[in-house]
Amino acid sequence: MSVISQTVEPFDLVIFGGTGDLAVRKLLPAMFHRFVDGQIPASSRILGIAREALDDDGYRALLRESLRDAGEASQLDVFLQHVGYRPLDARKSDGWADFADLMARHPDHVRVFYLSTSPELFVDICARLGDLGLNKGASRVVLEKPIGRDLASANEINDAVGRVFDESQTYRIDHYLGKETVQNLLALRFGNALFEPLWNAGHIDHVQITVAETLGVGHRGAYYDRAGALRDMLQNHMLQLLCMVAMEPPASLAPDAVRDEKLKVLRSLTPIDDSNAAQLTVRGQYRAGVAEGASVPGYPDELGDTRSGTETFVALKAEIANWRWSGVPFYLRTGKRLPERVSEIVVVFKAVPHSIFDPSNGPLEQNRLVLRLQPDEGVKLWLTIKHPGPGGLRLRHVPLDMTFAEAFGVQQRDAYERLLLDVVRGNPTLFMRRDEVEAAWRWADPILAAWAAAGDSPRPYAAGSWGPSAAVALIERDGRTWHEDNE
Ligand code: NAP
Repeated sequence: MSVISQTVEPFDLVIFGGTGDLAVRKLLPAMFHRFVDGQIPASSRILGIAREALDDDGYRALLRESLRDAGEASQLDVFLQHVGYRPLDARKSDGWADFADLMARHPDHVRVFYLSTSPELFVDICARLGDLGLNKGASRVVLEKPIGRDLASANEINDAVGRVFDESQTYRIDHYLGKETVQNLLALRFGNALFEPLWNAGHIDHVQITVAETLGVGHRGAYYDRAGALRDMLQNHMLQLLCMVAMEPPASLAPDAVRDEKLKVLRSLTPIDDSNAAQLTVRGQYRAGVAEGASVPGYPDELGDTRSGTETFVALKAEIANWRWSGVPFYLRTGKRLPERVSEIVVVFKAVPHSIFDPSNGPLEQNRLVLRLQPDEGVKLWLTIKHPGPGGLRLRHVPLDMTFAEAFGVQQRDAYERLLLDVVRGNPTLFMRRDEVEAAWRWADPILAAWAAAGDSPRPYAAGSWGPSAAVALIERDGRTWHEDNE
């Protein structure tokens, strides 16, 4: 299938933290793919920035390894001609004037400043860009997560960035929103007459959102131990997914039309605080076990700190207090060292009101719409049918399966590809507005406070299991079970 592309204006993409893991593993390969698809205009430049003393060739050599599999060698050489490097320290003034001269060579270019550094540097970098007047005109800044560790620190970052860049220039990235499946959720919900009439408390029993990783904390221990699963995954990615499922139909796909509706969902979440956190949330921390066929150490050993009270797993029951969703629980769970790497949204419909079938025909299961974000992005709609052939009326629950790669023969693209070019095009629909980030923290902060006040430790779970047994009990208490793809 041919690649259909939209045009892109010439741009300068400046990646602060250009030698870091995210830039090398994700951002540069994403840009290389866009180049291979003919979407990088000839004069466009991509500039890596970090403190390491490299020159352009040194940086290109560093990138070659991670770009090797993303395209052909001859294409890579041409792509790398677009790529350069400047050593700069966000905290020191040396070299910034030269950097401004370099930027001034193409005053007509769209300028994208991607802050792929720790958030403590956002303030310094933005202040310097402002001093150099690089915030003027078609300039945009991209902020990586985490935006703060609570509402107060998020406000500090947003205030400091806001002193230099207008909100309309600020792109808070959540790469989950760039995934095909999430955009497909919009298409399914609002492009088909079939779903929207059923998309409410009258017909939906509950929703599950799972983001499971098999990996442990690895070399990100220092960052992760200060964050934990709720801050790292749930407050941002998972709440954004919840918003996409639960929002009212926006009037259009205009950026603020969509973001206004997501904000209303965040503001309608029922508070979880010390009055109900013990019933509605479960925290866990992995211990030694078996993951991906190998014995692995527990979180305290991996971290080198046996006293850590950081959660590597969280499951919770959220509710949205509005007409559409009254009484429909949203069960969210995420964790490290779980048995599978999977991110999915499962919408479980109510049971039929009356069964005409005999129990001997087999169990009558509830319809489910499963939107899988990774791996194998796609959608499955589970339906009840008659088992084909003779043998009487035997009921079977089977999925209508649309694994995108198989159905459309399209190679899966990383979400960063779409999102980076959305910034260049000036389309913030799939980025978080400041008030969304604030509303998400306003809901998450009391959960964190309740856990801190309870003073207990996260429940241990064996690496390679689905978290503490209390997470199973959380949903089973309500007569439901976590979805398993037992096709
Ligand atoms: P990283 O590997 O630690 O890279 C940090 C980068 O910042 C390096 O290039 C580092 O290079 C540079 N840097 C540090 N201090 C600097 C200074 N004073 N001035 C200029 N540059 C400086 O981090 P990362 O994993 O790429 O993550 C970057 C950001 O993205 C973080 O906020 C992280 O939470 C977020 N994020 C990462 C991922 C991921 O998959 N890695 C996913 C989602 C979000 P020098 O030391 O040479 O200066």
